[in-house]
Amino acid sequence: MNLAQLLLRQARVAGDRIAILEGTQPWATHAQWAQRSASLAQHFQAAGLQAGDRVLLFMRNHPRYLEVLWAAWWAGLVVVPVNAKLHPTEVAWIVENAQARWAFVTSDVAPDPIAGLERQVDVESPEAAALFMGRPDLADAVPWPSRPDDTAWLFYTSGTTGRPKGVMLTHRNLMTMGLTYFVDVDPVGPGDAMVYAAPMSHGCGLYAIPHLMAGARHVVPASGGVDPAELFALGRALGPLSTFAAPTIVKRLVEHAEAQGLTPDGCSASFKTVVYGGAPMYLEDIRRALRVMGPRFVQIYGQGETPMVGTVLSRVHLMDAAHPRHLARLASVGTAQAPVEIRVVDERGRALPTGEIGEVLVRGDSVMAGYWRNPQASAQALRDGWLWTGDVGCLDADGFLTLKDRSKDLLISGGANIYPREVEEVLLTAAGVAEVAVVGGPDPEWGEVVVAFVVAKAGAAPTADALDAHCLERIARFKRPKRYVFVPELPKNHYGKVLKTALRAQLQGQAA
Ligand code: AMP
Repeated sequence: MNLAQLLLRQARVAGDRIAILEGTQPWATHAQWAQRSASLAQHFQAAGLQAGDRVLLFMRNHPRYLEVLWAAWWAGLVVVPVNAKLHPTEVAWIVENAQARWAFVTSDVAPDPIAGLERQVDVESPEAAALFMGRPDLADAVPWPSRPDDTAWLFYTSGTTGRPKGVMLTHRNLMTMGLTYFVDVDPVGPGDAMVYAAPMSHGCGLYAIPHLMAGARHVVPASGGVDPAELFALGRALGPLSTFAAPTIVKRLVEHAEAQGLTPDGCSASFKTVVYGGAPMYLEDIRRALRVMGPRFVQIYGQGETPMVGTVLSRVHLMDAAHPRHLARLASVGTAQAPVEIRVVDERGRALPTGEIGEVLVRGDSVMAGYWRNPQASAQALRDGWLWTGDVGCLDADGFLTLKDRSKDLLISGGANIYPREVEEVLLTAAGVAEVAVVGGPDPEWGEVVVAFVVAKAGAAPTADALDAHCLERIARFKRPKRYVFVPELPKNHYGKVLKTALRAQLQGQAA
């Protein structure tokens, strides 16, 4: 089992069809893609890279991303796609930890040599062009016979608590993820197109796998990133696009559609499906998104350790407004995806009854093989075949999972557990509030107090008193923020996740 077979298969059955585009410009057919990847694979082998060796990608979204991924798999290598916003010293740490031999970069992301590599290739250089230029006979250039449990992708966690860990994702994990897309997320056909606006080093890039399986097109925006106007225009030019976006990106798309006065029908010309996940989507935000852009959303919940596969909130469930528990479902992350089981357990791993809050466990073929050269962390995360996600939530009688928070984000004030997300959901319904993040601030009397960081809507100026009154009408007194901090924006990482650690550190700094 080798993911590279997916490319060879399309090169044979649909070799002449455009597979990759940069903006609206064709970049490669399936046959050209396969030949370039097979060519680079031959160079890897000629340079002495052995099956299982690591190749790093540290670059902005680029059509070459896809060619390098499949070249590495073709040669039986392991890819290490790295967040393009990391600091050079963080990347050097990953190179060292993964013992990566080669790296592929773009010069905007990596202008300088990264320590510890045998070779660093700028994908826009003539050197790179030569590597992709061979025209191997595809009948002879057979992908390396990888086994299902061989690692294909070493996915470094964001490391908000200590050093990042390398999640070993196997060919089987990623095949499972790809096939599950069609069952749980969306059917795909050759006429469809996946656009890579969010970082390809993360979930968005993983979705290249189902789209290659289905022979669809892969579109890298000319900007290499998220520009709502560009994306809407690309969709109109190429046909409705599918994409994966963190909730913050969804928000930007919705704001753009609103500002342009687009109707849901108008939006359907640009987008077929927007899969969202990776961070909490608040009830208010998804309701607005559905109102403005129409039925083109699907939510997934997963994590690097079970990539893109955990639960799904389907298009049908998102649109089923007549259901008596519709709003509760909108606020949930949906039900278990086809290849996995989900459990909510207490600290000792005992399954909890419906409605009780505990840690979320996942079991199935999408779950990682373990952490790279870290048996201790692996044993901690994988127990009796179950992945302990570190997420906290509860299941309802129909199997819908509602996440509360990461266990480390839980806030304990005067001995009472408070889930920040619940407070955030309430504050987002208050007038003038655009974004909010609730964290615990140190307090000599209460241990921790609830502090809300609030971003106001343009032209609005919500006051602490007004927000307090709003909360008093809707949640228990003890859950109300004791303090409001009004900020122009929230700190976020490259994947759009709010950096609560940074907010907590800010409060700790102030207290000290
Ligand atoms: P990562 O491994 O970087 O993809 O981060 C995974 C984490 O993001 C999960 O463990 C959750 O805490 C969070 N997450 C992922 N999907 C969702 C979602 N749909 N809703 C809320 N949080 C999510």
